[in-house]
This record gives sequence, C-alpha cells and structure tokens, in this order.
Amino acid sequence: MTDCIFCKIVNKRIPAHIVHQDDAVTAFRDINPQAPTHILIVPNQHIGGAAQLTRDHGAMLASLYTTAARLAETDGIAESGYRLVINEGPDAGQSVFHLHLHLLGGRRLGWPPG
Ligand code: 5GP
Ligand code: ZN
Repeated sequence: MTDCIFCKIVNKRIPAHIVHQDDAVTAFRDINPQAPTHILIVPNQHIGGAAQLTRDHGAMLASLYTTAARLAETDGIAESGYRLVINEGPDAGQSVFHLHLHLLGGRRLGWPPG
C-alpha cells in the first residue's frame, strides 16, 4: 500500500532500525520505545489489522511469533520475560493500520495495561 508507513519501512523507502527481515516478516525498533526492548514485527504483505486476518495467514502468523521469541533471545529478555501485544481499533489505541506485533521487555510491565 503506497501511503502506509510500515509498507515503506518493509520496502526500505524510509529508514528504520531493522533487526530482522525474511520472506514473510520484518522487525524493527519502535521509534518511540515504551520499554528498553520495544520491537515491532510486521507482515511484509499489507494487512490492516487483526480483523483482516484469515486462516490463510497461519504460516505468516507463526513467523510473526517465532521471530518475536527469537528476538527476545537476542535482546537478552527471554529469561526475564516480555509481552507480545496487538492493538486493534480505537479503544486499544491502534495508530498504524498495518498489522504489527509489539515485543516489549527489559522492565517490569504493569498489568492490566492502561
Ligand atoms: P499502535 O499504536 O498502532 O499499536 O503502534 C504503532 C507503533 O508504531 C507506535 O508504538 C509508534 O511509536 C510506532 N511508529 C509509528 N511510526 C513509526 C515509524 O515511522 N518508525 C518506527 N520505527 N516506528 C513507528
Ligand atoms: Zn502497509
């Protein structure tokens, strides 16, 4: 999608600190980190959000989560723990309409989230 900021990051048309990219997903550090580790993992293909997912996205979703777990290892937070979050729609504060999984860790995370 031409006017989507995360599509532009995936296609390297705008800069980002990319920490992983493969055929299915791209992971990059959040520009406004909310924790010492705050990485966004996104499908390379434009999907607006969780509501647009279908069963055909199963393999991509597995890549999203296995990439997150691997990046938690490389960032040194696998033992201390981390949170994986998808914000969907207005009440969750979704601000970018290209599906993304937040990987947050490196500090104690409050529950329930605000
Ligand atoms: P949401 O609120 O939609 O769940 O999360 C969007 C996230 O994208 C926010 O945490 C925000 O800081 C991040 N973000 C927005 N624009 C950019 C950008 O241009 N580059 C990077 N690296 N992160 C961005
Ligand atoms: Zn997009």
